[in-house]
Amino acid sequence: MQNKSRTKYIAILVISYMLIALVWWSVLLFSKNNEAFNSQTLRFNEGNLTSEAYAQIEEKHARQKYMIIGEGLVFGIMLIIGIRLIVKSYSRELAVAQKENNFLLSITHELKSPIAAIQLILDTFKKRELPKETFDTLNTNALEETDRLNTLVGNLLYANKLSYGTSFHFEQRDLVQLLKNILLHFEKIHPQFDIQTDLRQSVYGKVDDDAFKIMISNILENAIKYSGESKEIMCRLSLENDKAVISIEDRGIGISDQEKKTIFEKFYRIGNEDTRETKGTGLGLYLCKEIVTAHKGDIVVKNNNPKGSIFRITIPAYDK
Ligand code: ATP
Ligand code: MG
Repeated sequence: MQNKSRTKYIAILVISYMLIALVWWSVLLFSKNNEAFNSQTLRFNEGNLTSEAYAQIEEKHARQKYMIIGEGLVFGIMLIIGIRLIVKSYSRELAVAQKENNFLLSITHELKSPIAAIQLILDTFKKRELPKETFDTLNTNALEETDRLNTLVGNLLYANKLSYGTSFHFEQRDLVQLLKNILLHFEKIHPQFDIQTDLRQSVYGKVDDDAFKIMISNILENAIKYSGESKEIMCRLSLENDKAVISIEDRGIGISDQEKKTIFEKFYRIGNEDTRETKGTGLGLYLCKEIVTAHKGDIVVKNNNPKGSIFRITIPAYDK
């Protein structure tokens, strides 16, 4: 950071010097031009110069005056454009650095807090004989934390793989079966949620198993994480115009129209870093977008009725 502010001050110094030098040279050239002209005017007044020669000098003086103004303006405008470009790219770099910094902070916190929670629960199990209900609640909490840790590590590894240009292995799959397996896992980990399904239509797609699982799991995890008071989630699969359409619907806190596009950006999380209550890194939906694009599909988010969000994934469908 110290290095960055030093660079900033040096840049301000260089730019200020260039601007001052530009003004100074323009004024100097202007006065030199005037001085030369005044001395010729003196010669003309003393009768040492013919009217034709003086007219030529007058014309040259005016031309040089406009030349200095023109060149000065062009140089000034170029300088301003250059400075604007530098400032823009500097701000962009700062924003990226800020995002990465937030990401690192959140990762450290995200990794540490579930480990601490699981440790505490295991410690309690060891030290005390608990009533069945308390035991079950703590057990579910521990499973949730382990699952969260698992998704987080999975997301990190996958994001890293993507940055190195991972290759996908597409295979013809029964999407109903794939979705059922993922949902089964979620039902086990989050028994307090009512996950309903409409998977009656048989649909096949060419998918990469790991990537598909990461994509659906992230959307389901978000549906749970941002559920607010509601505990209802719906997962549908249908065939529309040769496309497999998967929609995951929640009745949670919803997403404003303004944020609907930005949530798919890497590390983007809605709201303020200091006041946000939910955990996360902002990698989940970025991965979903990358994965669905690799499957030649699309992902969009809409409002659910009366509240919540619907994430709709569309990928090409294939015959069995
Ligand atoms: P993680 O990387 O752990 O998934 P995250 O959940 O914050 O972190 P994303 O899954 O990329 O990151 O989601 C980006 C943001 O979009 C979230 O921070 C949240 O504000 C918003 N969001 C995502 N899904 C929902 C949803 N179903 N309802 C409301 N807001 C959501
Ligand atoms: Mg998420």
